[in-house]
Amino acid sequence: MKILIIYTGGTIGMIENPDTHALQPFDFDHLIDNVPKVKKLAFEIDHVQFSPPIDSANMKPSHWAEIAIAIERNYDRYDGFVVLHGTDTMAYTASALSFMLENLHKPVIITGSQLPIGEVRTDGEENLITALQVAAARDSHGESMVQEVAILFENYLWRGNRATKMSADNFDAFKSNNYPPLAHIGLDIEFDTDALYRSPDRRPLKVRHEMDTAVMVLELTPGMTEFTLQHLLHTPGIKGIVLKTFGAGNAPCDTWFLEAVAEAVSRGIVIVNVTQCVNGGVNDSLYATGNSLSRTGVISGGDITVEAAITKLMYLFGMQMDSSTVKTYMRHCLCGEQS
Ligand code: ASP
Repeated sequence: MKILIIYTGGTIGMIENPDTHALQPFDFDHLIDNVPKVKKLAFEIDHVQFSPPIDSANMKPSHWAEIAIAIERNYDRYDGFVVLHGTDTMAYTASALSFMLENLHKPVIITGSQLPIGEVRTDGEENLITALQVAAARDSHGESMVQEVAILFENYLWRGNRATKMSADNFDAFKSNNYPPLAHIGLDIEFDTDALYRSPDRRPLKVRHEMDTAVMVLELTPGMTEFTLQHLLHTPGIKGIVLKTFGAGNAPCDTWFLEAVAEAVSRGIVIVNVTQCVNGGVNDSLYATGNSLSRTGVISGGDITVEAAITKLMYLFGMQMDSSTVKTYMRHCLCGEQS
């Protein structure tokens, strides 16, 4: 059994800057020296690392490509991959990788921690060891138990493109509000085999790392002015917008609002309706306010997360698709990201 760790940075490997006392990313050797228990695991572990490792607030699509390419190059030589990553943008990276790694049949387990690995009360040691064990887990046929991108944090394993960072300070920092955990981490690692993703076919891994960044999130608030809305909808070059709406996908019924949105749609901008609520999804036929929005040509994102919706738009436009093709794919589940 061989597992490759891809260390990108994040709190897990950070140390305090002696001058500013702020945490900053540090070398992989420092990280692994703090987890001597890793040597007790009965499998081979290698690593590659970002040079330099980064705080995940600095994560960009080019970094996602770097991770995806590292997996592609090493795919046949390793049984699983553990990505060490800062928590801040972990859910975006997990979502992006789930789209970029087409036909994935091996585990890609992303983890990190809330406290640096060098701290006495760190959650990093446990998260790293458990992530390695999850990456090595096999089912009764000897196949990888996890065949998708997942986030391991504290007591749970979550589907990567369903998860969201829920807390800036709890050890249980992640949750997927619209999908059950893939595994509970307790005395044993208990997998929910019904929840685990299984791709319908067994084609070879195909990595697509071109992401188009001409996308943005537009969050509605009561009182948003026509001026602000028009300004945002006319962002130069914009191709896709995740529109964060109220409740079950509702938006104001003002004529100026609906006309501005319809006009943006007519210019070929793909606008996806995603709820601001942490739980549940868009049901745009429930209220007149959702219904009038859907009549402008805005498409429903269902129960997709913002992280998955925005990275899916980047991925689809990255494949040079036109707006109507992007719309078609946005309505379909590609790799377990929406119900
Ligand atoms: N700012 C850090 C990062 O995302 C936070 C963390 O890792 O928990 O890299």
